[in-house]
Amino acid sequence: MTRRIALRAAIFLLAVSVASLALGRFAGPPWGWGLFIGCVLAAWLHGVVSLAALARWVARPLPEELPEGRGAWTGVLRALHRHERDASRRHAAATEALVRFRRAVQALPDGVVILDGRGRIEWSNDTAAAQLGLDAESDLGQPIVNLVRVPEFIAYVRSGAAEAPPPVRLEIREGTLLAAQAIAFGEEQTLLLTRDVTQGERLETMRRDFVANVSHELRTPLTVLAGFLETVRELKLDPQRTRDYLAMMQDQTSRMQRIIEDLLTLSNLESSPPSPPRAVPVAPLLERLRADAEALSGGRHRIALSAEPTLDLVGAEGELASAFGNLVTNAVRYTPAGGEIRIEWREEADGEARFSVVDTGVGIAAEHLPRLTERFYRVDRSRSRETGGTGLGLAIVKHALSRHEARLEIESAPGRGSRFSARFPARRTVAAGATERG
Ligand code: ADP
Repeated sequence: MTRRIALRAAIFLLAVSVASLALGRFAGPPWGWGLFIGCVLAAWLHGVVSLAALARWVARPLPEELPEGRGAWTGVLRALHRHERDASRRHAAATEALVRFRRAVQALPDGVVILDGRGRIEWSNDTAAAQLGLDAESDLGQPIVNLVRVPEFIAYVRSGAAEAPPPVRLEIREGTLLAAQAIAFGEEQTLLLTRDVTQGERLETMRRDFVANVSHELRTPLTVLAGFLETVRELKLDPQRTRDYLAMMQDQTSRMQRIIEDLLTLSNLESSPPSPPRAVPVAPLLERLRADAEALSGGRHRIALSAEPTLDLVGAEGELASAFGNLVTNAVRYTPAGGEIRIEWREEADGEARFSVVDTGVGIAAEHLPRLTERFYRVDRSRSRETGGTGLGLAIVKHALSRHEARLEIESAPGRGSRFSARFPARRTVAAGATERG
């Protein structure tokens, strides 16, 4: 470029000198000098004007206002134009990359806050703003400890990310548990990551409670069993007493067996893939359940069945039998002698199918209803135990029904009886015999 400019200048000078010499020879030296000085002055003036335009642009360098050049200035300004174009392309690419990066961080399920060296918010994604109760725009530049007024959080942020403190668990809002971690980066900046761990913590508590409950449920019959065994071994008992003790030991063993069977059923419902859907003839299934209920009741209750014979379900027969069976058995167990139990199966006006068990039993107070399907939740512990309950029946019902897209509805009033209903969407129903015909 410099060489080209020097060459252009040399050619210009040479051309002007030759032209001036020629003119001086023909028209006289004053004309020659006149031409030479005029040309040099014009070139100088052009340089000054171009330089002034460039100086103006440099003071306010807008790419679209870069002046066009002439002569030797053409190359310089063209190079500037090219540089300017590249710079704005690079700037656009960087802006685009930053926008994409921010969009990616926005899309993260975790909260991200960038703090400067004095703990002021430089940027935060929407998740962090929602979790920490910040305003992602108007809180920029504010010290985060002024906005999140939770002592543990303030202490954590102040402890300094440079010390790489382990993540903390904080309850910023009631009922929401956050895990927060500060990571030092850049020049004294801090990356604050937050994650909602409420659900995980709830599951962990449920798991702990479940293990404690199972241990407790099995320990009671085991303790009784161990006591009986010791008595039978240590004492000289007459044959009748021994038989009585053995019968009681068998009761405890059966109880443990029922608990283990129900636990296995639950675990199967939770972990096994859904069984291939088949048409399940519901009316014959309910007929069998009624016969079982009669046997369990031993004639102490009136048991009526009203089932639409042409309405079948699509699903897994074993799971449906287990869900319906548990509801029918419960009705017998929680209805005093002389009571009435109705088993109903029909199509509703909206196309849904409804299985109901209605009893005139002890009923349930409203405050227990939301918790009935929790594992081992019982309203009356001793009644449940006396009637051979494991506390897992309704948990099994809930799982089996949800695998059939059905929901459980419970209506009950203490002393007046209960209605447990399973509602199946229309797409789960099929006309009886449809598959055989098809
Ligand atoms: P359990 O083995 O104790 O019956 P379930 O999970 O089947 O366990 O039921 C949970 C609790 O719900 C029972 O302990 C009982 O208090 C209450 N319950 C269930 N069905 C009925 C019903 N038909 N009438 C009154 N209470 C019921």
